Amino acid sequence: MERKHIVIIGTNFAGYTAAIELKELVGDNHRITVIANTHKFLFFPSLIWYPFGLREEKDITFDVRPIYDNHGIDFIEDEVLNFDLAKNTVNLKHHDAVTYDYILIGTGPKVDYDYIPGLREHSNSIVGLGVAHKTREAWQRFLKDPGPIVIGSAQGAACFGAAYEFLFNTRYQVAKNHLKDVAPITYITSEPFAAHFGIGGFGNAQKMCEWMFNHYHINYKLNSVIKEVKADGVLLENGEFYPSKFTMIMPRFIGVDAVRNTPGLANANGFIEVDDTYQHPTYKNVFAAGVAVHVKPPTATEVPCGVPKTGWPTEQMAKTAVKNIVADIKGLPLKAEKFDDMAAYCIMDTGNMGMMIVGDHMLSPREHEFIIPGPEAHWAKVAFEKYFLWSRRHAKV
Ligand SMILES: Cc1cc2nc3c(=O)[nH]c(=O)nc-3n(C[C@H](O)[C@H](O)[C@H](O)COP(=O)(O)OP(=O)(O)OC[C@H]3O[C@@H](n4cnc5c(N)ncnc54)[C@H](O)[C@@H]3O)c2cc1C
Repeated sequence: MERKHIVIIGTNFAGYTAAIELKELVGDNHRITVIANTHKFLFFPSLIWYPFGLREEKDITFDVRPIYDNHGIDFIEDEVLNFDLAKNTVNLKHHDAVTYDYILIGTGPKVDYDYIPGLREHSNSIVGLGVAHKTREAWQRFLKDPGPIVIGSAQGAACFGAAYEFLFNTRYQVAKNHLKDVAPITYITSEPFAAHFGIGGFGNAQKMCEWMFNHYHINYKLNSVIKEVKADGVLLENGEFYPSKFTMIMPRFIGVDAVRNTPGLANANGFIEVDDTYQHPTYKNVFAAGVAVHVKPPTATEVPCGVPKTGWPTEQMAKTAVKNIVADIKGLPLKAEKFDDMAAYCIMDTGNMGMMIVGDHMLSPREHEFIIPGPEAHWAKVAFEKYFLWSRRHAKV
């Protein structure tokens, strides 16, 4: 069989999983190259703890280069500028263009800090190590001069779980620092009800979340459209203003520039519309996985809410995509694994407690959906973090 060159873009949940899985499937029969603008795997879920000094960079990242080296996977650290889908090439910032037979795009999101005035300047962020570090500094300033807090998920946001986790972790830190009386917390969200999560809700999560809001005296505001984030608070489109001395608004995600700069690859928001085999409908040697992929919201909401493409389904998409690349090379039929039907596994941490979320399908209708609340959920999340990073650092084919 002719040796093919399979190129994977991105080296995090989608890209890294795809590279290791593909190596396992094809060995040395085909050439694998990973291209990413970093050599570090970042475990995003731990960024909810980073601003409070509970994690350092070394705890939640690892270098992918020795692992690729050991597995005979080529790695190029560079930024992809765009793709030439007709010529099967990837154009890079500092290297010559790379030609592929198959490509898998796992470039994740671009965080859109510019669609709401003041979001970039006045909101803290946890979507990346650099911004989380700035948030840590802002938290230290806040501790010296405390006041009201606003945390939220803006219109079009999808990463609701992380916003809730940061909200409840901030609540826990406020209590630990004996600031409850001076630091009232407001949660502003585009969701139509608490714990909608962009997926139409999950089991009795709404009731549990409402109970927690009441129990912890968190004021919450649903169906919100943020007009402006100011230095001293958040202004909604309906004129309501929520004063804040520490603000974290989760922005919407769009596709990365490299994808948006490639005609015919993605939709208007820069997400790649693949079918349930994760193959592009027009360019059959192009596959995509993870946040880079478009997933249709299951229900319309008054204010736009995106669908969260979390770690577990991202890895499943990546595995399905590489299996289908191999099937395509062999001339076999591709297998579908619809996002909606994947099992749902998530742990939502709230500081010293949490909720374990398990369901038979990502999107409803579901036959089984369980939420297990309690302190063990916090420890389960910590244990999962350690297990995940250890197992991926020691990945062996
Ligand atoms: C704060 C936070 C907390 C989260 N918590 C959880 C959680 O508890 N559980 C859960 O399941 N999920 C969680 N998620 C979601 C999870 O992080 C995502 O599902 C996951 O990161 C998606 O993986 P991905 O590979 O698609 O994208 P990413 O992880 O964003 O990876 C994209 C990769 O592409 C590379 N790249 C991008 N553009 C280019 C370019 N132009 N050129 C070269 N390389 C490029 C990047 O460097 C990176 O390697 C959380 C997310 C955040 C932000």
